Amino acid sequence: MPLRLYDTFTRSVRDFQPLHPPVVGLYSCGPTVYDYAHIGNLRTYLFTDLLRRTLLFNGYAVKHVMNITDVGHLVSDADTGEDKMETGQRRTGRSAWEMAEEYTQAFQADLRRLHVLEPAIWCRATAHIAEQIAFIADLETKGFTYRTSDGIYFDTSRLLGYGRLARLDVAGLQAGARVELGEKRHVTDFALWKFSPSDRKRQMEWDSPWGVGFPGWHIECSAMSAKYLGTFFDIHSGGEDHIAVHHTNEIAQTQARYGTRLANFWLHGYFLQMEDVRMSKSAGDFVRLQTLIDRGYDPIAYRFSCLGAHYRARLNFTWRGLDGAATALNRLRAQVYAWGEAGAIDEAYADRFAAQLNDDLNLPRAVAVMWDLVKSDLPDSAKKATLLQFDRVLGLGLAEWRPVETIVPAEVLILVQRRQQARAARQWPLADELRGQISAAGYEIEDTPQGPHIQRAGAGELSR
Ligand code: AMP
Ligand code: ZN
Repeated sequence: MPLRLYDTFTRSVRDFQPLHPPVVGLYSCGPTVYDYAHIGNLRTYLFTDLLRRTLLFNGYAVKHVMNITDVGHLVSDADTGEDKMETGQRRTGRSAWEMAEEYTQAFQADLRRLHVLEPAIWCRATAHIAEQIAFIADLETKGFTYRTSDGIYFDTSRLLGYGRLARLDVAGLQAGARVELGEKRHVTDFALWKFSPSDRKRQMEWDSPWGVGFPGWHIECSAMSAKYLGTFFDIHSGGEDHIAVHHTNEIAQTQARYGTRLANFWLHGYFLQMEDVRMSKSAGDFVRLQTLIDRGYDPIAYRFSCLGAHYRARLNFTWRGLDGAATALNRLRAQVYAWGEAGAIDEAYADRFAAQLNDDLNLPRAVAVMWDLVKSDLPDSAKKATLLQFDRVLGLGLAEWRPVETIVPAEVLILVQRRQQARAARQWPLADELRGQISAAGYEIEDTPQGPHIQRAGAGELSR
């Protein structure tokens, strides 16, 4: 079952072969650290994690690089408006550097809480200014740039095939350009270097051959991916919003400088919507992972809920949906725990699972195979071994999960014991009355083949 992946560049599902086996170079556009990540952003990183785990599952080694955008991402994709870091500074009253550090750490903590495997290399835009300047200087030498009063721009008309990734109708865009072009020659041209304003000093600015300023957003990814993965590597990933501008411009820069296509595969995760509305950081009132935790949810329930949708489909977040995922996850955990020791893997189920995974990461179907396995009549030990194998990709942490032990007060235990005696003697009214007393004391009792199971009332229920 070869791995097949949907490549946005060719708009087709293609067989995946690493350029330099067994290593796969993977670059994922990271967060802009002017605020916390919302659960929409995190969906995109969960998708990248499933991609990475699927590559590992197929026996490849993955060199995963993720950048941190801590300068240069402007409020508008048309290279107007201020740097998002500046809006963040105003909101938080912190320095740009402190803020970047704090939000980077918060982001990384969220990824850990979601069992997202840590990239091999994290790279910050501000730590790679020299590489970005060298890149722009080379583009200048090759004749791809021009200067305006506010920066150095990339001339997209100089590049044959500009906009291919997004199937942009460049001529149509140019003709219909209502936006104020300013000094830009073409609508699709974009900033490589922006000058600092003349009337004030920015917190983040650097000297360059063109004047004091800061790099544009797109150049960081071309410069850092080339540094860590080479000029043509296996897979580049990001969210669907990156197709039209950010990735289109990354490709343009790399092609202009090196003549290569940048990445062999382009994979894009589709958006999470909040009750049908697109979630965005700038909207202000967004849901963070911490919001879910504060409402009593386990972060892994969010991970589990994302497995229920294909990464190339938008996912509508609802609290009811999350409740469902939390309940199903808890059932699954208890079930897997109760199976005891793992035995031999069932190859038939393992093959079915791998087939779904390798069919462009069809996680909803892979999860369906998992439930088939749970309901199957295989021996518990085979179920356990096979499911733990699946969990290398699902990342639910099933091998480590333990039921939370409830400390039950002695008087409740006595009631439980008396109820057991009543049941043994078939004194049903007495048994029911004792159950009532146990419940009045705040405990629930569930009769299982292994004997009564006692827990605090409501403990199994995750409520908001
Ligand atoms: P940003 O921090 O804004 O640069 O975004 C970080 C990542 O989250 C990018 O890969 C975006 O494409 C992605 N993203 C932004 N909004 C959403 C959303 N609502 N759902 C899924 N991914 C998103
Ligand atoms: Zn990028």
